[in-house]
Order: sequence, then C-alpha cells, then structure tokens
Amino acid sequence: MNSSPHKLVIIGSGPAGWTAAIYAARAQLQPVVYIGVPKADPGPILPGGQLMLTTDVENYPGFEHGIKGPEMMETFQKQAERFGTKVIGEDIVKCDFAKGGGVHTLHTSGGKKVQARAVIIATGATANWLGLPNEMRLAKTGGGVSACAVCDGALPVFRGQRLIVIGGGDTALEEATYLTKFGSEVVIIHRRDKLRASKIMQDRYLSRPNAKVMWNKVVTDVLGDEMITGVALKDTVTGETSKLDCKGLFIAIGHTPATKFIKDSGLEFDDEGYLKLRNRNSYTNIPGVFGAGDVSDHEYRQAVTAAGMGCMAALDAERWLAAQGID
Ligand code: NAP
Repeated sequence: MNSSPHKLVIIGSGPAGWTAAIYAARAQLQPVVYIGVPKADPGPILPGGQLMLTTDVENYPGFEHGIKGPEMMETFQKQAERFGTKVIGEDIVKCDFAKGGGVHTLHTSGGKKVQARAVIIATGATANWLGLPNEMRLAKTGGGVSACAVCDGALPVFRGQRLIVIGGGDTALEEATYLTKFGSEVVIIHRRDKLRASKIMQDRYLSRPNAKVMWNKVVTDVLGDEMITGVALKDTVTGETSKLDCKGLFIAIGHTPATKFIKDSGLEFDDEGYLKLRNRNSYTNIPGVFGAGDVSDHEYRQAVTAAGMGCMAALDAERWLAAQGID
C-alpha cells in the first residue's frame, strides 16, 4: 500500500487515459497511470488500447499525413511522462471505492493495494472479433482487416475494391454506408435473414447503388497471405460452403466495454453496459470517480472524442480535488 494516497490514479492508456494524464500532470496532481498488461481475449488487447491494432490514423487533427496508431500512443505516453506522470505496467483488477468520497483502494494484478483520492476510469472498449486466426493475423499486420471503417475505410488500399462488412446491427449498417463512398461494391454478410439495425439505417445503406447484402452466411476463414484476398463462407441454413473475393474486411459485430473489474464496485452502467456518466461531464455516481473515453461512450468511439473526454475528466478531477482541499 502506498504510504499516502495518490491524488489521482488513471486506469487505462488509450487516448482518454493519456490525455487525462497530460492535463493532470500539468496541474501537478502527480497522476499514476495503470496501463494494463497484454491479453488475448479472443482478440489481442494491448496497453495503448484499440489504436495499437490500427495502422494509419488519418482523422486525428494535427497529423497532416497521418500517423501509425502505436506511434501515436507512444507519443501520447511520452508527452504525459514529460510532465511527471508515473506509469505502471499492471492491471487494476478490483476497486473498493469509498462511496462517500474518501480514499479509494485499488487492487493490482501484481497483488498490491493502491490508494487514491480520485480515480479516472479510461479502460476503453474492445471491438468484438469473429475469433478466426487469419482474421487476427491480418488485422494486426494491416492486411486489410479492420474493426473500424471510420478509422481505416478511407485508406487508398480500399478504394475502388469490393469490401465486406460483417454484422447486422446499426454499427455494421453505418460502417457499410460509409464504405460505399470508397469501395466499388460493399457486401454486408449477415448470419440471419433479417437485420437488427434500425429501419432508417437499413434504408440509407440499401439506397446506395453499390450496396449489397448476403443473407444467412458466416465467415469460416479469412484468405490471403500479406493482404486479404477473400473470405470462406458457410450458409447457416443449407450448410453450403463458398468463397467471396474482397480487398477489405470490416468486422462490426459490437463492442465490449472493459468494465469487468468494476462490475461489483457500486458504479452505475447504462443499458449497454457502459460506464454511466452525468450528462456532458465525467462524473460517475461515486464521488471522486470519473469516466472518460470508450468505456463510457458507445456512440462516437473516436480517438479524438476519447482524448476530449480524458481532458474533461482531468479537469473535473482537479476541480473536485480542489473542493476537497487537495491541490
Ligand atoms: P449490436 O446491435 O449488438 O449488433 C451486432 C450485430 O453483429 C448483430 O447483427 C449480430 O447478429 C451480429 N453478430 C454478433 N456476433 C456475431 C458473430 N460472432 N458472427 C456474426 N455476426 C455476429 O451492435 P452494434 O451494431 O455495434 O450496436 C451497438 C449499439 O450502438 C446499439 O444499441 C446500436 O443501436 C447503437 N448504435 C447506434 C448508431 C446510430 O444510431 N447512429 C450507430 C452505431 C451503433 P444478430 O443480429 O444475429 O444477433
């Protein structure tokens, strides 16, 4: 146990966590960031979050020619460390929050107990993957497999090509509609004969001349060595197998917020399981505990929005600590 409680512990090391750390460190709160340990569950989860699995980030302002996701996270970390952020390569596995706003106790994967006056939860959400070995391999190497069309869909490699989107929810329809701007043809592959997505999203997608849907099909393998060349399919009704060529595969079968470690902590979650925040700020239902980034946002899920939320959480934490007489 640390002898005197940290002023601020930040859990998570994506854009939200590092931005919170930059602001908090500059405000002399001596933040401690728990960056987590690598996992494979079933897809890879790395310290640095989802951007560690992205190749080029072209939509984050300030990088005219884009930047690689991992390089961006390394730069964020260095900027946070420059102002005195302490970085610890462990997970927080359990939280005993002081419900009345006292000292919070956090349990680390290394078996230690850490005390903090304020905590920012910025653990993100992970994209769900099909869990196929070649899918993960090509996603990690920039081989044309992605779980974020908005992040990757505009890359030159996808222009004028057949692109496949897996899923039948609003995300799949939204991402597929976005991709119709770039691909010669976009094919949604859905495991049933009915989409889960809202009617308006369906209509928007289906109104595009290059939009198609293949019903009752699941992907059984992703084909290609360095770059994807197609997918192997199985019909869920007839069992018939087939192949479909493509140059891009976008998985849009939902996200899972990283909230397991706070499930029984007394924090409130929304209907989708995301950390619930008070409207337009970062306060949770527990005083001194704040949320930022994708762990509390299933709508925007962008690096830049997560970074903005990290800034908000640091400012909220700073003001809250000041109100408790801690600065
Ligand atoms: P979702 O609604 O849970 O849909 C996931 C889709 O993926 C479902 O169609 C599901 O098929 C399919 N799926 C799940 N696991 C699969 C697997 N292993 N193999 C093949 N297909 C699989 O998730 P979401 O689309 O990400 O949406 C999440 C929430 O965000 C929803 O509430 C949604 O309305 C909201 N959202 C809103 C907007 C918007 O309004 N602009 C945009 C995006 C998301 P089944 O249908 O067969 O279960």
